[in-house]
Amino acid sequence: MTITPRSLDLDMLTQAFAGIETITDHTQVAKLSQDYHTFSPILTAKLAGKVGDIVVRPSNEAEVIQAAKICVQQRIPLTVRGAGTGNYGQCVPLQGGVILDMTKMTRILWTKPGVVRVEAGAKLAAIEKKTQEIGWELRMAPSTYRTATIGGFIAGGSGGIGSIQYGLLGDRGNLSALKVITLEDEPRTIELRGQDVQKANHAWGINGIITELEIPLAPAYPWAEMIVTFADFLGAVRFGQAIALADGMIKREIAVFAAPIPQYFHALQQYISPESHAVFLIVAESSLEALSALITEHHGKITYEKPAKEAGKGLHLAEYTWNHTTLHARTTDTNITYLQSIFPGDNLQTIEHMYHHFGDEVMLHLEFIRAGGMVANPALQLVRYSSEERLGEIIRYHEERGVFIANPHSYFIEEGWKRAIAPEHLKFKQQVDPYGLMNPGKSKTLLIGVGNGE
Ligand code: FAD
Repeated sequence: MTITPRSLDLDMLTQAFAGIETITDHTQVAKLSQDYHTFSPILTAKLAGKVGDIVVRPSNEAEVIQAAKICVQQRIPLTVRGAGTGNYGQCVPLQGGVILDMTKMTRILWTKPGVVRVEAGAKLAAIEKKTQEIGWELRMAPSTYRTATIGGFIAGGSGGIGSIQYGLLGDRGNLSALKVITLEDEPRTIELRGQDVQKANHAWGINGIITELEIPLAPAYPWAEMIVTFADFLGAVRFGQAIALADGMIKREIAVFAAPIPQYFHALQQYISPESHAVFLIVAESSLEALSALITEHHGKITYEKPAKEAGKGLHLAEYTWNHTTLHARTTDTNITYLQSIFPGDNLQTIEHMYHHFGDEVMLHLEFIRAGGMVANPALQLVRYSSEERLGEIIRYHEERGVFIANPHSYFIEEGWKRAIAPEHLKFKQQVDPYGLMNPGKSKTLLIGVGNGE
């Protein structure tokens, strides 16, 4: 499955891809070889200089098949790219070659109550705008929903706004179907449905080129936004947990920020005093009365409210949650990096311990989701970076206390949310990419040849 990188003849390539839009300007190609791995000083160093040779921009499935065929014939590595907002260097080409930019394939093929079928390059916000016309919306979206593509979210993301109600992307029922193009001698289209979608779900672009997806939807609600502040961090966490556990309350987002994190949110500073801990909420308007009672019980203070009728205007609290928190912090201090983690169930003690143990070095940003039917706390802690060694110690300290770390300082799939590649994933990989052309180097398992017959 190993391929030998070689220098490519750009003129020959441009000719081979004739009829499909291509980009060969080095600055542009270098830009389209990047993603947001730059939040990690370690990945920034490791992935420096990893650039593709040519960007190919198909506008339909026939062009994807044509591009796949050329890559197979010439044995050229191919890296699929959506909007390039991934964090793990997921779409950085490790061995150069073709960057297949899917952002021209944006068609929404059909919508019906509860499900939408789209091309892979459609942006999440655009999909939702369309489905809201018939009273439905995405079950979950990353905080990058305005720019990210649906193909990139399924291949690289995990969940986000909405996950408190509907769980994660990998949960059964959150993805109906995928159409993928193979990198075989004669590229084929394969439609995966039901549990078969897991063969290519969250595969970081190495298990076929996704061209179309069928996504289950949720009923659309009028969403209100609110900031509630607390004098005590644990008080804020308990409040977040109480909302998360209140099954009768409909919510889309619960995020808790330990002071001083909210001070990095410049546009919101007037609503959060420097010593306050904050909870950001997106809840259905019909749940506001129940929420009000909960705020009183937990001694919170409402400092910002935006009714649903103003949803399209002004600030969007969603764009301060998930990894947007890190983005905002880094606009003030580029020395800040982050962790991606999940605290174990019944986790308040562990959260409290980490809060006191690390103080300002590891600032706690917690999210609430449903995972396996239970409420869980992913955290995207902000870390004041000092050295790779210290970051390693911080990670180990968490792991030793049962906190799962999806290491955003590694570009291997097996160190992210997935700790091992499932056998059906590997089998499918061998079937759809027999020459190992899809961004080679992303998987440790494949590098050492385990399970791939080498
Ligand atoms: P890309 O970054 O372009 O690609 C991601 C991966 O998918 C790559 O491995 C790529 O090769 C593969 N891929 C892309 N398109 C295809 C295709 N058509 N076929 C096969 N493989 C493909 N993620 C979350 O899950 N939740 C969040 O809340 C979240 N918040 C974020 C906030 C910020 C500020 C940033 C920078 C990132 C965040 N992310 C989050 C990560 C990322 O934004 C999302 O996962 C996003 O959905 C990726 O979409 P994209 O189009 O940018 O994908």
